[in-house]
Amino acid sequence: MAVRRVSKTAWPTGPGLFAEVHRELVASLPAAPTTPARRSPRRTTAMRLCVLASGSGGNASVLRVRGQACVMLDLGLGPRVLRHRIEQAGLSFGDVSAVCLTHLDQDHFKPGCIPMLLGHGVRVHLHRWHVQDFMTLPGAADLSAAGLLCVFDDESFEPYPGVTARPIHLPHDLKGTVGLRVEADGASLGYATDLGTVPPQLIDILSEAGGVDVLAIESNYDPDLELASGRPAFLKQRIMGGRGHLSNDQAFAAVRAIARCCADGRPRRVVLLHRSAQCNHPTRIHRTFAQEPALAARIVLAEQRRRTAWIDVDASHAGQMSLWLD
Ligand SMILES: [Zn+2]
Repeated sequence: MAVRRVSKTAWPTGPGLFAEVHRELVASLPAAPTTPARRSPRRTTAMRLCVLASGSGGNASVLRVRGQACVMLDLGLGPRVLRHRIEQAGLSFGDVSAVCLTHLDQDHFKPGCIPMLLGHGVRVHLHRWHVQDFMTLPGAADLSAAGLLCVFDDESFEPYPGVTARPIHLPHDLKGTVGLRVEADGASLGYATDLGTVPPQLIDILSEAGGVDVLAIESNYDPDLELASGRPAFLKQRIMGGRGHLSNDQAFAAVRAIARCCADGRPRRVVLLHRSAQCNHPTRIHRTFAQEPALAARIVLAEQRRRTAWIDVDASHAGQMSLWLD
């Protein structure tokens, strides 16, 4: 099996108004146009994030680096929807250089995308825990034989030259999932989804060196709505039992803990991922985060059926949002 190993460092072991306008802007963001939006000649930032989709129906985000390369975080959309969302964001799948997968649940990786990955020579970065399962997927052997499967362990790796991704082990189902701290040119993004609890390492790593500029973290369910739902008991237990997902309260506590350890008002933008359509509601999330208005002003709710605006991930102006594309 032609698996490329990438390893560098070891796992850590240590423990207003404008804001309101921003929030309303996102909440009211219309469905993205059916034709690719034009590219604007705006400045180049270190990184920009666009969440193409988030939720149990599929998760995929694009991180644009220096206005050039694209690194995707998860690939949980089928090829047709994926192409469409990427085009709505002003790009094409041919712009994608690499994909970092958090885990292999079908809402985070669609095997039907493997031919696209092969066709465009896109590298797939995957934690070693998930390789065995990955290799059972149709087309995985071809991807591996083409040298496009890059396995990382407990150490930082480079999904693109000059871009470092530091993995963080997160509890989720049997094999866990991977959170990431992604850095380029001094800008940093924290990305954590599908975690049943918040390990101290997540707080530590995402608040290191002044903290991440933008934090993307799941806020999956409201406990009252979850318990009142018609879901079977085993599913409620899976979600709420510590190896499933974060509730709104857990997400808020994690964001607050990270923010308190960060400097200069970081993270300047908090993107809330993987909201349950059945057991959560935007008003519940806003109510939870309203406990700390300074944080409430920074949140962006990622959606299942439409992409977010592009969000700057940049040390100097992180969190700015743009409806125009670069
Ligand atoms: Zn998921």
